[in-house]
Amino acid sequence: MNLNNPVSAQKPSFPPTTHKAKADSAYWLLFSEHYVLVNEGESPTFPQWHTVPSAFPLEAVEELGTWQGLPCYAAALSRSITAPPGMVFQHLRSLMRLCSEAEFRLAGQAYQVLLWERNHRFCGHCGTALQTSTSERVRRCPQCKLEHYPRIAPAVIMRIAEGKKLLLSRSAHFPPGMRSVQAGFVEPGETLEQAVQREVMEEVGLKIKNIRYFGSQSWPFPSSLMMAFTADYASGSLRVNYAELEDAAWYDANQLPPLPPERSIAYRLIQDWLALSR
Ligand SMILES: [Zn+2]
Repeated sequence: MNLNNPVSAQKPSFPPTTHKAKADSAYWLLFSEHYVLVNEGESPTFPQWHTVPSAFPLEAVEELGTWQGLPCYAAALSRSITAPPGMVFQHLRSLMRLCSEAEFRLAGQAYQVLLWERNHRFCGHCGTALQTSTSERVRRCPQCKLEHYPRIAPAVIMRIAEGKKLLLSRSAHFPPGMRSVQAGFVEPGETLEQAVQREVMEEVGLKIKNIRYFGSQSWPFPSSLMMAFTADYASGSLRVNYAELEDAAWYDANQLPPLPPERSIAYRLIQDWLALSR
């Protein structure tokens, strides 16, 4: 990040002087790369502006709306700093475990908005510096008029069962031992159901049936929307694509390996199957 960036220079002073009173009694999600500043505690909370040092080197600021009755902002620190006493920088991933679901969602929203702000400063078509809209979350190119909205990558995640067996697999980036249900990004032109079928065929060589929507979860690692489905095995024999997976196998309910974090939709998919298969 660079404070001399011409787009950053258009940003108001921090906190915005026109809204200083509002900003003082507001919640701030202050990010240093993937880490957000929180008040220390068993369940970390987000600080209000008057509790953080005014010398904080803020760069991008984005309004998030309200949180617990107060205005709420996301901001990126332009360089690493030491957390003030009583506060600590927590990795976004660890907030999923430490905070409430609502707090994690807010932190995920803040992270994604700041990431978009940082990565969309110039027009992808003509290279001109983009202008920030004051009325909605969009950046416009003054040259070619192209509009740049925050981008979310749709992904599908699917639980495949065959009777009393559940298909779980392991990707190289998982923590040691962990296995989960299958997942992948939706490709241009696909329906969600087609993406589910294609991913399962590509990763494990199986045909599936009874594809049903289960639920969704914003997944800010970095900017996905996970849409979850359940499905049943239809035909084919398990053939692991080792370019995508380290392994895949059918598991009994009483022999499950380490699973994804509890707040993840993958975990909910598996718990739902366990409840059904009892
Ligand atoms: Zn342009």
